[in-house]
Amino acid sequence: MNHVDTLECTLCGETYDPDQVIYTCPNHDGVAGILGVVYDYDRIAECFDEPLDGAIDSQWKYRAFLPVADDVEPVTLGEGGTPLLDAPRLGDELGVDLRVKDDGRNPTGVLKDRATSVSLTKAREFGREIVTCASTGNAAASLAGFAARGGMDCRLFVPGDAPEGKLAQPLVYGADVLGVEGSYDEAYDLSMEVTERFGWYNRNAAVNPFQVEGKRTVGHELAEQTREDVPDWLVFSMGDGCTIAGGWKGFREFRDLGFVDEAPKMLGVQAEGASAIHDTFQAHDDVEEVADTVADSIAVGRPRNTVKACRALEESGGDSVLVSDEEILAGEALLGRTEGVYAEPAGAAPVAGVRKARQEGIIDEGESVVVVVTGNGLKDTESAMRAAGEVVSIAPDIQDVIERYE
Ligand SMILES: *Cc1c(COP(=O)(O)O)cnc(C)c1O
Ligand SMILES: [Zn+2]
Repeated sequence: MNHVDTLECTLCGETYDPDQVIYTCPNHDGVAGILGVVYDYDRIAECFDEPLDGAIDSQWKYRAFLPVADDVEPVTLGEGGTPLLDAPRLGDELGVDLRVKDDGRNPTGVLKDRATSVSLTKAREFGREIVTCASTGNAAASLAGFAARGGMDCRLFVPGDAPEGKLAQPLVYGADVLGVEGSYDEAYDLSMEVTERFGWYNRNAAVNPFQVEGKRTVGHELAEQTREDVPDWLVFSMGDGCTIAGGWKGFREFRDLGFVDEAPKMLGVQAEGASAIHDTFQAHDDVEEVADTVADSIAVGRPRNTVKACRALEESGGDSVLVSDEEILAGEALLGRTEGVYAEPAGAAPVAGVRKARQEGIIDEGESVVVVVTGNGLKDTESAMRAAGEVVSIAPDIQDVIERYE
């Protein structure tokens, strides 16, 4: 793995050996010293000879950029390579030139599959056979699916009130699913204790330094897919903040290497009921540590990656907005109705975020925007019914149809 230089602490700059299993920098009491992977881009550029012509079979097209050893077989289900769709009707509604990156089409229905694939490939490299994480639902389902694929045992900590579809999925993949009677934040703390005690390989997004690296491939793909027409804005929802940080790092790398001329401004979207990253970025005095939103995948009270997320917003000249649950559900219905893309609430939050950013004068009329749909709606049908309304009940009689449509 001679294209990885080191692991570097985002807080104090201390460096660590990338061949060792380490999660966070131990120099910081109480706060997590998140590690970033530092690459040797000259070496990467030497090995990367893929054509940037928009044909993307899977994220492993960008293997030269991923922090895995050359001789390890990836744990993969064909993640990545998702389409970038024109979205003219939705764009008209929002007053922008819009495209949608549909990452809900990943193998377990979520962008996180990119990261899971990389971290389980690392677990394989490190010889680990038991993997774990805490999750609001999607990371658990994703980890369980890839663990099954890699022949590993999977033990999950999820908050008791996660949507049923997200609990059914890891059960089908054969994982132990432990429903913690408490919040995501409590499930998270428990998973960290367990990791220390049992030495299972921990996929937790913010603390596993290799995890976020897989999420860069959504940025690589977007850079490749928009090479002729880089958008003004790239929009992600934010929970722990790893996804937007990874997406930005990937796009920025391709710009810095000259594969694409410029990079977009990042717009981060949070729910009003879970707004800690937004509050920090906007320098509000009191950062609320609550997590109460219909968008369960971004219901995070204490985000683990606020630093990296805020850096992505800052470096790109971007901004952040908050949206209400009503606005998120309206965004889910609007996205489905106008473009045929079915998102879960956290996946639709960027649509609501674009509308909010237009109202607040952050995005101007006619600017070009890419929204990233991070998760598939089929996992959370209860919210979908709230978003899209009721089934109309009729008798098996032509008269009922005539009354309605004639
Ligand atoms: C996890 C998740 C997010 C947020 O990602 P973070 O890295 O926690 O910011 C957004 N949407 C969906 C569907 C997710 O599963
Ligand atoms: Zn440190």
